[in-house]
Amino acid sequence: MWHKLSALFLLLLVSACGSDSTSIDTPPSSEQPKDSPQVIIPVVFHILYREGFPETNPSDSKIQSQITVLNEMFRGKNSDITDVPEIFVPLIADMQIEFTLAKVDPDGNASTGITRTNSMPVPGETVAYEYVYYTNSGGKDAWPSDQYLNVWVNDMRDFFGGPLPFAGRAAFPGEEPSRDGILLATTALGTEPPLDDRLLLGRTLAHEIGHWFGLYHLGGIEGGCEDDDGISDTPLSAHSYEMVFNPEHPSSSCGSVDMFMNVMALTHDSFLLMFSEGQKEAVWTVLAENGERHSLLQGYQQQSRNLGN
Ligand code: ZN
Ligand code: CA
Repeated sequence: MWHKLSALFLLLLVSACGSDSTSIDTPPSSEQPKDSPQVIIPVVFHILYREGFPETNPSDSKIQSQITVLNEMFRGKNSDITDVPEIFVPLIADMQIEFTLAKVDPDGNASTGITRTNSMPVPGETVAYEYVYYTNSGGKDAWPSDQYLNVWVNDMRDFFGGPLPFAGRAAFPGEEPSRDGILLATTALGTEPPLDDRLLLGRTLAHEIGHWFGLYHLGGIEGGCEDDDGISDTPLSAHSYEMVFNPEHPSSSCGSVDMFMNVMALTHDSFLLMFSEGQKEAVWTVLAENGERHSLLQGYQQQSRNLGN
């Protein structure tokens, strides 16, 4: 009887709150179902290709395949999420973040969200890969990083004349705006060839975006059991599995089972399966008011209001 009464009381309370809310300017996101994205981030891909080398100029469809992967990974909808070991399943996060190719450029013109630049770097102008960030050096200037995620795509192998030196490089929050984005190898982009053998699932960019939101590798910066990623639900890990491309669960270090299937580990693509709830909380601190990437959330909420949904 007591339970029935308290349930009735709760119902009354809820309906009273409901009638109040008509006069409150609630953000549209709060009215969406729980499994909706809470932010959709516009992405611009700056393709830096070499004329005469078609493999350095990825198709629109290869780029779109990258967006699809991001939206699966950040929503926990990758089909192999079921491979996460049982002990870590309760920690799997739906980050509630999605991505889309930018539909408007910084001048307000319609855009595909893709720029293509025939890039011949000027030797000696800037340090190594850094020319990509600057039109004057043969790269492409960033779009305003408070409104867009900039991804520069370049065939690193051609420029360095050897094997892939890195698949991706991310700016952490607070980077100077002209370089505030991600540099991605053409052979790590999306799920269509050409792709590096270890990078077939387009997950490098999901990992780099983790950094761009301020997440560290599981082994922290230094590695070893003294250093941590600052996230409480990712177990302390002696390293980030960068040298172990086929780790087996359970693998332990620092007295606990390692979460090497986390997107912020450094194994190859097919092992990167999940973000954790603790990582979600950290990322949303960066997106929240006073966070370094709050302008992107504001931009999305503003746009949602303008569209009236
Ligand atoms: Zn990394
Ligand atoms: Ca941790």
